[in-house]
Amino acid sequence: MKTVKFVNIAAQFNSLRDEILKKIDDVCQSGSFILGNELKEFEQNFASYCGCRYAVGVANGTDALFLVMKALGIGRGDEVITAPNSFLATAGAIIAAGAKPVFADVRDDYNIDPNKIEEAITGRTKAIMPVHLTGRPADMSAILDIAKRHGLYVIEDAAQSVGASYNGKKAGSFGIAGCFSFHPLKTLNAYGDGGAITTNDTALYEKLVKIRNHGLKNRDECEMWGYNSRLDNLQAAILNVKLRYLDGWNRRKREMAAMYRERLHGVVKVPVDAQGEEPVYHTFIVQCERRNEMMQHLLKLGVETKVHYPIPIHLQEAASLLGYKEGNFPVAEAQAKRILSLPIYPELSDEELEVVCDAVRSFYSGLT
Ligand SMILES: *Cc1c(COP(=O)(O)O)cnc(C)c1O
Repeated sequence: MKTVKFVNIAAQFNSLRDEILKKIDDVCQSGSFILGNELKEFEQNFASYCGCRYAVGVANGTDALFLVMKALGIGRGDEVITAPNSFLATAGAIIAAGAKPVFADVRDDYNIDPNKIEEAITGRTKAIMPVHLTGRPADMSAILDIAKRHGLYVIEDAAQSVGASYNGKKAGSFGIAGCFSFHPLKTLNAYGDGGAITTNDTALYEKLVKIRNHGLKNRDECEMWGYNSRLDNLQAAILNVKLRYLDGWNRRKREMAAMYRERLHGVVKVPVDAQGEEPVYHTFIVQCERRNEMMQHLLKLGVETKVHYPIPIHLQEAASLLGYKEGNFPVAEAQAKRILSLPIYPELSDEELEVVCDAVRSFYSGLT
């Protein structure tokens, strides 16, 4: 039986093997592992890729969110509005910073609903943290407008959307800061953890450079208390290689999304691109009745799928003290029961994609 894996990290490594092993060798020979030249180069490359003045490499995407809040002075007594359907790290970073996550329901495209943000604003709100979930940009013009009217920061969780754009502007370049993850499962990925923050704000940039490195302003002088959260020079070297392939990978993912859409339209609910957006489809999420049965059916036919994510954050045990309950966010809750992520990665072949589509269709026709 032909099987289709949900991810295939080795396939990408094998296609870049010589280039990457050479880079690793170079860095190891140089002995420069922390805050080295490859990191500097990556920060410049990544800032320019995102259309921002600055980028700061940090240890992971969660730290990117956390450090931005710390640098902006967001903490105890403050509220940050975000989406309940994101990966846990978004709300987790807000909690770690000492602030309170306040959720606002999402729209049909899985992204935060600007109208619901407006309803969630209180005197304690300091920031809006939209998540560009699934590789599709949130409604940034509406969100920036709300933020401006209420004097709030916009901190973008762009962990799933590297390279996506909205009205020609890249995800991560709209707010005071954009936060990225280079976790092995993201499209631009390291061989371990990694993250970055983009910004156009010089004061924020200068502060972030210090607080990711113990608050040091030079080797010996500590200006403020900080953290140890740096992107390794070795990971930065690997990312410098991969960044050159990113647009090609994202193009291929858009092509696969179009193929899925054409083949599965009318069979399951498929995502449709909105006017002005160029998504990158970090995940390709369909919605269907009897989702868990569908998943089992696909697995029996050798097709691996996942659910991103089955339990909304406000219903997690860890979130119980926030005081939410089932029914608070009906759109996100209904989606959580119906969503299914199909395999989508640059190395997936057209033939494999057909296998996935045939398997999905056969669930309804009973032709297994
Ligand atoms: C992956 C991810 C993060 C966290 O990134 P890490 O590098 O794993 O810390 C945060 N938010 C979203 C939406 C993500 O998908």
